[in-house]
Amino acid sequence: MTAVPVFDYGEQYRELAPAVAQAMADVLGSGQLVLGPQVAHFERAFGAYLGEGMFCAGVNSGTDALAVLLMGMGVGPGDEVVTVANTAVPTVSAIRMAGATPVFCDVDRDTGLMDLGQLESHLTPATRVVIAVHLFGNMVDIPALRRLLGSRPIKIIEDCAQAHGASLGGRLAGSLGDASAFSFYPTKNLGAYGDGGLCASTDASLIAECKKVRMYGFEQSYCSVREGINSRLDEMQAAVLNVKLPHLDGWVAKRREIAGWYEQGLPTRLKRVQTNAGVDHAYHLYVVRTQQRDNLRAALAAKGIGTGIHYPYPIHLMPGYEWMGLREGSLPNTEQLAREVLSLPMYPELGRERAQQVVAAVCGALDGLE
Ligand SMILES: *Cc1c(COP(=O)(O)O)cnc(C)c1O
Repeated sequence: MTAVPVFDYGEQYRELAPAVAQAMADVLGSGQLVLGPQVAHFERAFGAYLGEGMFCAGVNSGTDALAVLLMGMGVGPGDEVVTVANTAVPTVSAIRMAGATPVFCDVDRDTGLMDLGQLESHLTPATRVVIAVHLFGNMVDIPALRRLLGSRPIKIIEDCAQAHGASLGGRLAGSLGDASAFSFYPTKNLGAYGDGGLCASTDASLIAECKKVRMYGFEQSYCSVREGINSRLDEMQAAVLNVKLPHLDGWVAKRREIAGWYEQGLPTRLKRVQTNAGVDHAYHLYVVRTQQRDNLRAALAAKGIGTGIHYPYPIHLMPGYEWMGLREGSLPNTEQLAREVLSLPMYPELGRERAQQVVAAVCGALDGLE
């Protein structure tokens, strides 16, 4: 029996290698290595992918995409940004990079997404933005969030780092909020071969502001019209992304197919993290839940099946965020999920045979644990 890793880009790379090599050689021969035609092309192409009237700014990472959007919106010290602690740390790093204060809303225990029923109690006159995290490729109900915020001057940023290709009511993740942030970290649904990220919005002036922020606040060379940072998408990564973008929908379809096999094959007594109503999930991760998580994980490892935990430590309980003053019990659903979640192998090239191997291993392991 061969081992099944939780993620592997090797097979996909071997298929794309000639096109990637050509694209990289073209960049090296072009004399333009940073913010050149590849980035401009990718920004247009990704905007067109997201839908009509979307503008994009390529940046160095998903973390930076969130931070640059916040800076572009003028969010800074004294401002509060509400998000969840059941996310990748970078969501919170970005809020701090902008100088703002993160505020955590607990998540729904079944979906793991922000519990909109609890949001209101976290809103204050200092709240400027809600960052809705589309965790695992599932989606927060952005129209419901918008209705809840009503006429308050609070913007919605979608954290789409795990949700390329997900949709809600037929509209793609990243096209529903005031702005959205994408990551192209290699493991994401659309991954570069290094770091990359992108800010998107229908607000052309916000994206124009983000383009200043990503390059020291320059509008033209050597003069900052505002303060900025250095966060550029480089031509090499943009060239890779231009090769890969046309494949994204096909890859997401394969992820959905794999999720379907898992769904059918896994015993019903093994709980799944639930999908929000109306969402066509992009399955960046396929996540199950059990109180026997650590035992199940060890049993699968013994059979060569790789798994992940997203995420083992709720952010509010990490030493780096002790200063927020929250403790065990502050966000009970977030804490419970951190103890129970387990991510099964998921990548487009996994294929039916390996998916069946995972299913068989999980069934066997569960029987052994009871
Ligand atoms: C990966 C990720 C990010 C950050 O992206 P980087 O490109 O690694 O900086 C932000 N939010 C979520 C939910 C992520 O999964």
